Amino acid sequence: IQSKLPHTGTTIFTVMSKLAEEHNAINLSQGFPDYDCDPKLLSFVTEAMQKGFNQYAPMPGLPALRELIAEKVSNLYGANYHPDTEITITAGGTQAIFTALSSCISSGDEVIIFEPAYDCYAPTVKLLGGLVKPYELAPPNYEIDWEMVKKLFTANTKMIILNSPQNPTGCILSEKDIKALIKLTKNTDILILSDEVYEHIIFDNNKHQSIALYPELRERSFIAASFGKLLHATGWKLGYCLAPEKLMKEFRKVHQFNVFSVNTPMQLGIANYLKDAGTYMGLSSFFQQKRDFFRKLLAETNFNLLPCNGSYFQCVSYGHLSEEKDTDMAIRLVKNYGVASIPVSAFYTRNPDHQVLRFCFAKKQETLEKAVERLMKL
Ligand code: PMP
Ligand code: GLN
Repeated sequence: IQSKLPHTGTTIFTVMSKLAEEHNAINLSQGFPDYDCDPKLLSFVTEAMQKGFNQYAPMPGLPALRELIAEKVSNLYGANYHPDTEITITAGGTQAIFTALSSCISSGDEVIIFEPAYDCYAPTVKLLGGLVKPYELAPPNYEIDWEMVKKLFTANTKMIILNSPQNPTGCILSEKDIKALIKLTKNTDILILSDEVYEHIIFDNNKHQSIALYPELRERSFIAASFGKLLHATGWKLGYCLAPEKLMKEFRKVHQFNVFSVNTPMQLGIANYLKDAGTYMGLSSFFQQKRDFFRKLLAETNFNLLPCNGSYFQCVSYGHLSEEKDTDMAIRLVKNYGVASIPVSAFYTRNPDHQVLRFCFAKKQETLEKAVERLMKL
């Protein structure tokens, strides 16, 4: 067949995790915890299965879970998303992103993406016939110059994709960034897809700048979220999408024929668990401890640490040590040192080689210690 994505290979997460397995390396590449989720959560899910909640959920998701999400978003961001018409439970953040894009991107539409960018955005846009307009950010701080973003606008600009806290850089958008974005998109029809899967992993008392905080933006935005990050259960592939009714109506037209609905007992288990826990907070301090611990260890290696304000990824640069491309360096680290990372050039269209690697620190203390012990030899 004629490939619809001729220039797309296998995702870097699969490539690096496979390599880690082959070489029996410590896997700090693909982002997932190496510890289990709360046993209480597991009991709520198994209880839902045992009680017979094993058939199709309603197309937009279980009402109990949507209601809890509405309450959370209202409490945290002062935004009222109606659970019946503006919240849909999805198969992870990935499906929320794919379906949001599918519901509004057509052939010739341009989508502005800040790179390094999570790797599902660009291929999805291309699959829909859209055009990716990358805005390249550079280490160490990966800041956005909004005047330069404006230069990317054309009559065909359909959407801007945001991701804060950002994967892979761990950078966050500030209130100033959002204000600039509001100014830039005022009197335009430009849509926003805000990937907020790391909304609860933000450090040093910074406030997550959810698009839901800003009425001017949320009326034109899809927000993608993930329970995988919130509950340390990435394998469950559950998340959700928030959008105003007019956008959610289009989203659900696609969702109903894409998956129709997602895993019933897990939705119910999560709803009961969150009701029982009574809070979404605590994740930031949990991961801040891990970040601080990991950074302290890494500071003893020859790598240069880049800032990390959110997410569970720490980037390092090594240009002062070697001229190797990050893809080569990542392979060498797996093969010779037994530690897997992600080469950050994989998240760019143009693959500029800034010589930066990403490590995931959603790991047990002893895993991080063992990994850094090996990296000390570099
Ligand atoms: N967006 C970003 C930035 C992510 O890091 C991830 C998870 N790796 C996703 C979306 C996808 O989330 P999920 O695993 O819930 O599909
Ligand atoms: N979000 C995870 C990461 O950035 C991986 C997700 C995936 O494997 N697709 O590492």
